[in-house]
Amino acid sequence: MRTGLAEELRRLDGASYGRYKSLTGTWRMPGFTLEVVRGQADPFAPPARVAVHVPAERAGFPGELRNCPVRRRALAGYLARQAADAAARTPLHVDCGRQEVLDRASCRIGDGRDGEERGAVTVRMGVELPGRGRRIDGRAAEDVLCRLLPRLVERALHYASLDAVEVRRFVDAVEDADALRRALDPLGLVAFVADGAVLPRRSGVDERPLTGPGVVPFASPDAFRVAVDLPNAGRVTGMGVPEGVTLIVGGGFHGKSTLLRALEAGVWDHVPDDGRELTVSRTDTVKIRAEDGRRIERVDVHAFVSHLPSGADTADFSTDNASGSTSQAASLVEAVEAGARTLLIDEDTAATNLMIRDARMQALVAKDREPLTPFVDLARSLHRDHDVSTVLVMGGSGDYMDVADHVLMMDAYLPSDVTARARELARVPTGRKAEADAFPAVTHRRPAPASVDSLVRGRSRVRARGTDALAFGEEQVDVRAVEQIPDRGYVTGIGFAMELLVRRGHLDGKRTLAEALDLLDRELAGGAVELLAVYDDDCAVPRRHEIAAALNRLRSLRVNR
Ligand code: ADP
Ligand code: MG
Repeated sequence: MRTGLAEELRRLDGASYGRYKSLTGTWRMPGFTLEVVRGQADPFAPPARVAVHVPAERAGFPGELRNCPVRRRALAGYLARQAADAAARTPLHVDCGRQEVLDRASCRIGDGRDGEERGAVTVRMGVELPGRGRRIDGRAAEDVLCRLLPRLVERALHYASLDAVEVRRFVDAVEDADALRRALDPLGLVAFVADGAVLPRRSGVDERPLTGPGVVPFASPDAFRVAVDLPNAGRVTGMGVPEGVTLIVGGGFHGKSTLLRALEAGVWDHVPDDGRELTVSRTDTVKIRAEDGRRIERVDVHAFVSHLPSGADTADFSTDNASGSTSQAASLVEAVEAGARTLLIDEDTAATNLMIRDARMQALVAKDREPLTPFVDLARSLHRDHDVSTVLVMGGSGDYMDVADHVLMMDAYLPSDVTARARELARVPTGRKAEADAFPAVTHRRPAPASVDSLVRGRSRVRARGTDALAFGEEQVDVRAVEQIPDRGYVTGIGFAMELLVRRGHLDGKRTLAEALDLLDRELAGGAVELLAVYDDDCAVPRRHEIAAALNRLRSLRVNR
């Protein structure tokens, strides 16, 4: 262990900037250790990376805040936020994500495994090392690393400096959300929205809850109300969304998409006061949408697309430039392939011709001229034969009343049960003929590892561009249409996970994508974020569904079947 960081920095004052690299190593600091993982090559290069380790005794967090993986994740999420607050407007950068509380590399509470001390706190961050031109500014560096950083540790990572009630509330809230999500499956539900939940967000670019007198808190319709007992909050009531096909109808601007987006985000736990703390959906819930222009690699879309003018085989379909309908068909099949059991679809982002084909259009355009089979004829079978539920927002067509198990109407942001009325209406024939009666089993694909290459001139290149794209090797993966991506670190996590699938041999050309993801899931379970953190960049542990979605959008991907 190295000592005397302050003196060392003073010694380096005025030296060429690259000498910062000599700081690499572990330093003893008052009350913690500072690991300089990577120096900074020049003033314009990415910040240096450091990790702060605070021993359990110093950190002082009581056992009940960290006695299980969920509570450790929550505590880490809380501490990352405190550290990020303390680091605001300084050269220190702590990644804490936004409203979601994810397993992140930036903060970790030791669980006693792998030589880690139980209850110790590790925070990883970026540090912009100060320079004067191309020279080291040793005095300023001393200020950052020997004054600012210890102050951050003291303020944000010592239990004694924190608001005990607030910490507890945060940890309890996350544990409750997790418990609520686990309760869904045994209750036959795909999602739950608590009474009193605040679903709307401040704006399209601000995920914090909408505030003000105009906000209508959620209230469940009687027919869908269920009660669940939670470890900390006790009994809560709300709307249970059952398995099967659930249709959400209602006038424009009445809150349909807002409800669906809350279900999208419900796969993650949220911070207290988010408004969606107790709005959860199953972890295997995937949003599906149209995305023209994406690539498709050997996906069996014949359930949706029977024949194409080009003569391409739709049971083994590849393209570099999908249409709206083929992209949505492929995304849906890929989601089921990766293990999705609940699909969310919003008319706002769906391809109309893949969703509906009404009686008149059936009469005008003969079936042999129309390659598409609309989802309305497949949704039932998807549930009956494959146990895949759908929650669908559709205000513009009544044809789904024929296939929906449940119909909810949003009216001025409040849902009501209109299932009986919809059934009645569905008894009046429209003259529409069903175009399919079964959704076929998904064909599993075996990705070729050589086609998932993160290297550029022998060096790994995995870098998120906000939440829009992932630079992966020589490729740019466009993930704008992968809607369940909460923040930039999550995108980085996806990239690392893709690389790990290859590095650890899970993708070996013989395993199916689903099998490879099973193996990775097992490794990442229980907060083994360390596996991703070895890459040393801010990242969060992604779900298998977004890893699969990104792989499927990697233009170099090749598969065997
Ligand atoms: P729809 O999909 O039915 O057309 P949206 O879900 O897009 O409607 O919502 C329309 C607007 O209403 C959005 O600006 C949204 O933020 C706002 N909104 C949604 N739910 C609520 C609510 N419960 N209280 C207040 N405003 C809401
Ligand atoms: Mg909408």
